[in-house]
Amino acid sequence: MTQAYFYQDPYAKTITAVVTAVVATEAGSSVYFDRTIFYPLGGGQPGDTGVIHFNEQTVAITDTRKDPNLEIQHITKAALEALPPIGTTVTLELDWARRHKHMQMHTAMHLLGALIDAPVTGGQVGVDKSRLDFDIGDLQLDKGALTEQLNHMIVSGTDLTFEWVAEAVLDAQPDLVRTMSVAPPRGAGDIRMVRIPGIDYQPCGGTHVQSLSEISPLIVSKIENKGRQNRRVHLVFA
Ligand SMILES: [Zn+2]
Repeated sequence: MTQAYFYQDPYAKTITAVVTAVVATEAGSSVYFDRTIFYPLGGGQPGDTGVIHFNEQTVAITDTRKDPNLEIQHITKAALEALPPIGTTVTLELDWARRHKHMQMHTAMHLLGALIDAPVTGGQVGVDKSRLDFDIGDLQLDKGALTEQLNHMIVSGTDLTFEWVAEAVLDAQPDLVRTMSVAPPRGAGDIRMVRIPGIDYQPCGGTHVQSLSEISPLIVSKIENKGRQNRRVHLVFA
């Protein structure tokens, strides 16, 4: 398995890695490494983009995903011949500006989920805008109040903590899983828990900021009616 170095250090912008496989695909190729800083699409967070440097050449990575075997595949439009052969040591470089926005937005989604006391039915993290869907029942939502509460949490500067727990521990506390639709994959052993002390604690495989103070000011831009009980809450950077 590829070592998911983005869990060890979500702030690593470059890393050296060894090519372990290259595969031709319909749209180009996929490259695999012994370790990576590229986060694969999952949990409502997009896959990372960036470049690979090797032998004074550069190849653009346009997406990162988990393949059917759950291995992390780095997707490129480049043909197989343009890629470094197995065993080559390369440098991976993230599109850090994009990823850091994903980290800010993803953490903000957890804040939003903590502010709205209703089951989450879906969500999508983006660079400029994100959304979280709730089954709100009779709850009334006010975008002005939510915006104020969110930014109040951000300026608190609370530090996040991360820990891995056995799946059995989580099974004994099903109420911890608030976002079933974006819950981390099961069956891989331990589950990663993300804690925002005093605010939120839930299983999540995404990348997050270390401190809430890193999140740029946000606005709840729209609360969309998606059926009698469902509301889509949209979030943008101010
Ligand atoms: Zn999450």
